[in-house]
Amino acid sequence: MTDTHTTTVAGVAVDTRHWIGGERVASAETFTDHSPIDGAALGEISRGTAMEAAAAVAAAKAAFPGWAATPRAERARILHAVADGVEKRIEELAIVETTDNGALLRSHRRGVMPRVAHNFRFFADWLLELEHEDFDTRGHTNHVSWDPAGPCVLITPWNAPLMLATWKVAPALAAGNTVILKPAEWSPLTASLLADIAAEAGLPAGVLNVVQGLGSEIGDALTSHPDVRRISFTGSVPTAKRISASAAANLTPLSLELGGKSPLLVFADADLDLAVDLAVEQYDNAGQVCLAGTRLLVEETVAEEFTKRFVEKASRLVQGDPRDEATDIGPNIHPRQLEKIDGFVQRALEAGARAVTGGHRRDGQYYAPTLLTDVAQDSEIVQEEVFGPVLTLQTFGTEEEAVRLANDTRFGLAATLATGDRDRADRVTAQLVAGTVWVNCFFVRDLQAPFGGSRHSGVGREGGTWSFDFYCDLKNTVTAPKGWKDHG
Ligand code: NAD
Repeated sequence: MTDTHTTTVAGVAVDTRHWIGGERVASAETFTDHSPIDGAALGEISRGTAMEAAAAVAAAKAAFPGWAATPRAERARILHAVADGVEKRIEELAIVETTDNGALLRSHRRGVMPRVAHNFRFFADWLLELEHEDFDTRGHTNHVSWDPAGPCVLITPWNAPLMLATWKVAPALAAGNTVILKPAEWSPLTASLLADIAAEAGLPAGVLNVVQGLGSEIGDALTSHPDVRRISFTGSVPTAKRISASAAANLTPLSLELGGKSPLLVFADADLDLAVDLAVEQYDNAGQVCLAGTRLLVEETVAEEFTKRFVEKASRLVQGDPRDEATDIGPNIHPRQLEKIDGFVQRALEAGARAVTGGHRRDGQYYAPTLLTDVAQDSEIVQEEVFGPVLTLQTFGTEEEAVRLANDTRFGLAATLATGDRDRADRVTAQLVAGTVWVNCFFVRDLQAPFGGSRHSGVGREGGTWSFDFYCDLKNTVTAPKGWKDHG
């Protein structure tokens, strides 16, 4: 149901305009947002242009001196108030996000939205602890400080919209910066609710701005703007290259969190049931998880047994409406994404791969959880990110071969290994190229840990102090012992 500027999604009113300088601003044009659950139109969203991008940057620039000068404790208090607002609206945020991007309602309720609130609390508290011990250079004192940098452009994808947005918004605001958030056009709704929540929490006008629109239309105006001091982007490699080129004109510092093709290594000495659980978990969010271990690398001697148990477990997954508590796998985000996934799978099958399970679409916007084997290391299906519920299985004979296969892609986001041998875990971990390695576990994430990817999986790290290092202008002040009037 839509009036001119509000749409009602699952009973929740969502403003479809931008949020700039503490006001709702409409664009002349709109784009239609659809639900992946049934394709229903959810609303007509303001389709931002360079004009709204410039207005948002101007608002962020005007609000910056006031917010940067706000004492840390007051900034932290307001961010905790934002977290309170998120917690009060968890049910609304959860159902709107599920309707908008098709991820499981039960995950949004219990995991994702509480984590959104935690993003604000964590970085608010971390700010108050942030310090580097002064150190001495021949009697001179070095003092390191994290100074606010200015307006930050934050551009985020659709697979975990509010979680990924607030993982950037919270530290950027805590650091004393102002923000222009551009959510993905396939899942724009919860960012608009966040603007409401932030305003209710007392965040001053212009400190957080939300602009909507297609990346290809509004993106360049944001990333090439000379008044922008930081750009943090989560999304695909091709977009990251365009953003990097656009930011280069002003040498704007960038943080890039990109795609992956992460390995999941299963050694013969592993707890095989645990390894199977970890492997089946890679279908989470219908495979639309950057960190997913989509390349199963299994030691030859246990490959047959592993495959048998994997297929048994995967066949019990319930695929369907993500609003249903019993559902394990929901739809994929967009008909275009489904085409892309199926294209990868059909080309792999034509090239000789065998579908151990799945390998085809289902009705609506759903893709059958798929495991492909008989795949060559240099094939497209092994080298390229599919971003759907598609895993490949390869075998290895030795630890050396396992490491070689694991590292043999252009990505380096994450790696998971299942082994019962601690020495092997240490040896293998030391050789893996990955921003995060999980041993006998998956997706355990602490916000104080560095997070990011190597090679084409990203540039830089965020998390804990690393976030503040990125969002701040670090300053070292060297003070001499001499020259003081009160010092004789
Ligand atoms: P995408 O690159 O297509 O879009 C991401 C965002 O960039 C969207 O908001 C989009 O509107 C915007 N955009 C597009 N073109 C732009 C331009 N020229 N200038 C500025 N902005 C532009 O990615 P996607 O399909 O939304 O997301 C999926 C990708 O994100 C996958 O590759 C996935 O692995 C990656 N991802 C990475 C992480 C991580 O933490 N490393 C997390 C989640 C997703």
